Amino acid sequence: MSRRTEQIIQKAHTRIAAIHDAIHVVDYLCSGTLLGHRTRCGKPGCRCATDPDARHGPYYDWGHMRAGKLVHRRVSPEQAVVLRIAIANYRKVRKLLLDWEKETERIIDTELPRNS
Ligand SMILES: [Zn+2]
Repeated sequence: MSRRTEQIIQKAHTRIAAIHDAIHVVDYLCSGTLLGHRTRCGKPGCRCATDPDARHGPYYDWGHMRAGKLVHRRVSPEQAVVLRIAIANYRKVRKLLLDWEKETERIIDTELPRNS
């Protein structure tokens, strides 16, 4: 194995180790999207009908895939705070997994070339 090949493989392993570290510190993880909205209740005389600032909420809906189906559920503002972090983490980890796959492919191609 050439010196250059060894370096490519070593660098890929270093990047994989960095990916491990980045994933290791992740705690909460959720897929999907979080939507916050305010609503009008429709009760006669309620200020929400005419005053946008008097609308009720915010209410938070979390949409995510479960067993291949998109499901929505209402979450509390406190839950929404954690979900926001969990969803950001999910996107970060997804990107890291793609990077991990890329580095693995690089190692396979370098260490085990097709034509050898
Ligand atoms: Zn109202």
